[in-house]
Formats: sequence, structure tokens, C-alpha cells
Amino acid sequence: MPVPALAPYDDANIFARILRGEIPCRKVFEDDHALAFHDINPQAPVHVLVIPKGAYVSWADFSANAGDAEIAGFVRAVGQVARELGLEEPGYRLLANAGIHAHQEVPHLHVHIFGGTQMGAMLPR
Ligand code: 5GP
Repeated sequence: MPVPALAPYDDANIFARILRGEIPCRKVFEDDHALAFHDINPQAPVHVLVIPKGAYVSWADFSANAGDAEIAGFVRAVGQVARELGLEEPGYRLLANAGIHAHQEVPHLHVHIFGGTQMGAMLPR
């Protein structure tokens, strides 16, 4: 079920459990601000999720409430992961679903990195 972008943070969400090491993931990157791991149900040859270590529900929550160091660290981590995955050329797509209209399912901010294939133009209608 999609979740509201500004719901209260739920410590039991699946990505919080991955951050606490309660559930395994196929990790590709970790630093002070972010963790990146392969999506369990990939939608492209490369499909990696990057999450901040702080407890933020969505981009709406993060952009309003995270500190500057957290925001800079997270944004840099997304770029570094894409670079380290060798995706800068020929390119990649970032996606962050926020809230019900976007069909956000996990209520911990995550950016999807898609790559490894020629993608279509923008959104299917
Ligand atoms: P959303 O729709 O919230 O933007 O995307 C959530 C993503 O999390 C989906 O692509 C889904 O496949 C992925 N996902 C859900 N549960 C798990 C899990 O336990 N492990 C991993 N690695 N990915 C998950």
C-alpha cells in the first residue's frame, strides 16, 4: 500500500530494519550518511536504492527537516554510487517516490538508481 509522504516515521519499516542489520541486503556502498543496496525486485539491469541513515519518511520530510550535512552527504552518496557502478556514461535515471500519488511503498526516503539499459522517455502514461 502506498504511504503518505508526511506520515510519522515508523521505526519498523523494512529499510529501518536493513539499517539496523536485522534484515540482510546486497550492499554496494555505505558511509556516515547513506547506505546503498540492490533492490530486491529489480526493474532494470542495475537497480540500486540509496537511503539516508537518518529517520526520514520521504523527500518532503528530508528536504524540510534534515540538516545541511545530512543533505549534502546523501546527495553526494547518490552521485558516488552511480559513479562507482560505472553508470555516468551512458547514463542513469534517479527516481524518488514521495507519497500516495507516486506510489511510495516503503516509508523511509530512498532514491532509486536505474541503469544498464536504454530507458524510455520519462513516465509511462
Ligand atoms: P517505492 O515504491 O517505495 O519507491 O519502492 C520501494 C522499493 O523497495 C521497491 O522497488 C521494492 O522492490 C524494494 N524493496 C522492498 N522491500 C525490500 C527489501 O526487503 N529489500 C530490498 N533490497 N528491496 C526491497
